[in-house]
Amino acid sequence: MSRFDFTVQVLVIGAGACGAVAALAAADAGAGVLVVERDDRAGGSTGMSQGLVCAAGTRSQAAHGIADDADTFFADIMAKARSETDPVIARALADNSAPALEWLIDRHGLPWELDTRFRASYGNSRQRLHGWPGHGGLDMVQLLHARLSDAGIDLLMKTTLVDIFADEENRIVGVALKRADGAIEHVGCETLILAAGGFGANRAMTARYMPETRLLRYNGHEGSHGEAIILGEKLGAAIADMGAYQGYAMLTDPQGISVPPPVLLEGGLIVNRTGARFTDETLDIAGMVHPLASQPDGIGWVIYDARIEAHCAAIPELATLMELNAAKTAATAEDLARLIGADPAQLSETIAEAQSAALEDAPDAVGRHWTTAASPHAPFRALRVVGALYHTQGGLQVDGQARVLRQDGTPFANLFAGGGTARSVSGPSSWGYLPAMGLTTAITLGWLAGRGAAALVND
Ligand SMILES: Cc1cc2nc3c(=O)[nH]c(=O)nc-3n(C[C@H](O)[C@H](O)[C@H](O)COP(=O)(O)OP(=O)(O)OC[C@H]3O[C@@H](n4cnc5c(N)ncnc54)[C@H](O)[C@@H]3O)c2cc1C
Repeated sequence: MSRFDFTVQVLVIGAGACGAVAALAAADAGAGVLVVERDDRAGGSTGMSQGLVCAAGTRSQAAHGIADDADTFFADIMAKARSETDPVIARALADNSAPALEWLIDRHGLPWELDTRFRASYGNSRQRLHGWPGHGGLDMVQLLHARLSDAGIDLLMKTTLVDIFADEENRIVGVALKRADGAIEHVGCETLILAAGGFGANRAMTARYMPETRLLRYNGHEGSHGEAIILGEKLGAAIADMGAYQGYAMLTDPQGISVPPPVLLEGGLIVNRTGARFTDETLDIAGMVHPLASQPDGIGWVIYDARIEAHCAAIPELATLMELNAAKTAATAEDLARLIGADPAQLSETIAEAQSAALEDAPDAVGRHWTTAASPHAPFRALRVVGALYHTQGGLQVDGQARVLRQDGTPFANLFAGGGTARSVSGPSSWGYLPAMGLTTAITLGWLAGRGAAALVND
């Protein structure tokens, strides 16, 4: 008698972007698929995200006159990570981001297009962030779940992966799953795809691998416990870049909503409690969290104006902040300083200095070049922000086909990983994250994993 209650061809753990895309790709290729998800609804880190994804060389870019290709994207990834990342994974992401995205658009009707509000910035040398205009990550993941349902793919919710079993040849044969009532079920599988997100919610792991984040709030998914990474490592998988993560310096306090990056890119500033700037706001979207965390009380204020607000008003996060009337507004820099508890003389000087640097087209006191954006002008708006850890970027080492690698560098025969569970391409720490690489890793590796798993069972 089999040790398993039943067996499936492709078993996917986690139903965020990576798991959903992997399941759709495997089913499209003719495999029988079961998806297992701990939560009782679609969400994950994907549901909390801004829903933006990088892809290079898409039709939508071409329609907007943006010349981009896989080689340029690859060069950007390597440059941002200072070459301290795996070129094989970088190449796989650069080569497959556009085909994966366009397959989702063409085959599954996902309404993604180039986000023209997001300038080429923070290491992306081309405009290549794609999204669903006016919608964020929750809409993305709900739409993906609707497509799972349309495709007739089975989804086991409120069910948690607790163990993975391999045979004597290190081939995955099945898993143990914990159901909502506590019962343990043993399910056999021909191939296994680990898409269970990262480990940002696992304080023991973040303390071990990224101790400097203890000063940061955690603003990622509470289900990112890293079990899939831990279980993979137990099987002999290699792990890498465990100190890599995306921090974010613009989590509004107390609303807990991200200020979208275009607010800075269009000319917004960040000042500290006294009203002084402390970083070039256009340099490093993720690494900026540390200069902020070291400011007095670890708080900052994002200063912007009506023009910037109008440019960004349709971005869901800013739209919500506007509905909540979250920004302090004032007619002059001095009045704004009084409202936010900053030094009026300091804030006036800060804003005046940025305005004159923008006019002169010269780098300002913090080294920002004002070549493509105007600085804020009265009347002003200000949002209070703190620094946070959003998601981890290290995990199971995979190859260019999303196959999990053992510690000796050879691939497991039938184990795949993607998204937050896999090593991404952000280097070893907080400074190597390119905007939107989280979902790029989830979708692209998910697509590769789903196709690779289906090819194995179809063999
Ligand atoms: C606030 C915020 C904004 C962001 N914005 C962006 C953005 O605009 N663009 C971008 O590229 N990235 C963004 N990111 C990062 C991005 O959200 C993640 O990189 C991406 O969603 C990871 O996808 P995933 O499928 O790997 O993980 P998830 O979406 O987290 O999915 C993993 C799923 O696995 C389930 N799970 C976990 N453990 C188990 C288990 N043991 N058994 C069963 N199920 C399990 C979880 O419940 C979860 O649903 C953002 C992150 C945050 C927090």
